[in-house]
Amino acid sequence: RRAAYAALREVAPETRDGKRITVMVNAGLRDDVASLDLTGADGIGLFRTEFQFLVSATLPARERQQRLYREVLDAAGDRPVVFRTIDIGGDKALPYLKDNPADEENPAMGWRALRLGLERDGLMKVQARALLEAAAGRTLNVMFPMVSEAWEFDEARDLFEAQRDWLTRRGRRLPNEIRYGAMLEVPSLAYQLDLLLPKLQFLSVGTNDLTQFLFAADRANPKLAERYDWLSTSILRFVASVVAPARAAGVTLTVCGEMGGRPLEAMALIGLGIERLSITPAAVGPIKAMVRSLDHAAVVAEMQRLLASGPRDFRGALSEFAAAQRI
Ligand code: PEP
Ligand code: MG
Repeated sequence: RRAAYAALREVAPETRDGKRITVMVNAGLRDDVASLDLTGADGIGLFRTEFQFLVSATLPARERQQRLYREVLDAAGDRPVVFRTIDIGGDKALPYLKDNPADEENPAMGWRALRLGLERDGLMKVQARALLEAAAGRTLNVMFPMVSEAWEFDEARDLFEAQRDWLTRRGRRLPNEIRYGAMLEVPSLAYQLDLLLPKLQFLSVGTNDLTQFLFAADRANPKLAERYDWLSTSILRFVASVVAPARAAGVTLTVCGEMGGRPLEAMALIGLGIERLSITPAAVGPIKAMVRSLDHAAVVAEMQRLLASGPRDFRGALSEFAAAQRI
């Protein structure tokens, strides 16, 4: 099977009836970028910039951040890279940070990601400058994690624009284009899509955090690991509810959580109208293989039928469909 997946490297993920699915990878370290060529993925849909902070014993200086971002962009070449600003706190605490958020009772729901970033804005400003300078002469795609209300996105974008103006005044070379996006992983944001969508260029559903918040079930608690399924009416209806508004607003929609890296789950997402996935590199081969055996129109119709009836065993129903379709 490995050989079969390797053979898919040069082959586009297109369904039997001609729907091209964009399959990108999640990455976080310089070496992850090699997975682009190894898998033939369409780009990096999620670059988790906090990894550099997590593997470092001290706060990485701007020059070090900038060097990493430039190396990643160089290696990606024409393929797009989405840099997510630091998502620290929660399960990713930085020991060298003052007022470390690690001591919280509910760190996943605590002072993390953009919440910390907007308040400790020195960190964000340095990162913004590093990203803007690294992407000089190219497109910069920047995405904010854990956006819970539309105004948080405004503040984060304003912070970036202020840094861009600062660099402009100093005559520095800037990106040709800056595209802004947000993670949709806190359910509250779904109720502000009308406010948010006109402001940004792309939106990425983070199914890891979304699942824990939607079900109120800690993603790190093994007792709960089997209890709620990604293939459930709630998660799938949630994702389905975002597809049409994003399309109407001309906002690029991606799913970047682990869910999209599993063939049956990815099939369900594609059936909801998702056309872009960003997944763990090892999943690219299996997902491409699934896409190429899929009939897009059939899975869309099947998902509409199943979403309306809300079967308790959604997974079972989808497995039957997949088997009948020889996927
Ligand atoms: C997510 O929450 O789904 C996600 C992609 O981000 P992370 O796993 O880094 O929280
Ligand atoms: Mg997340």
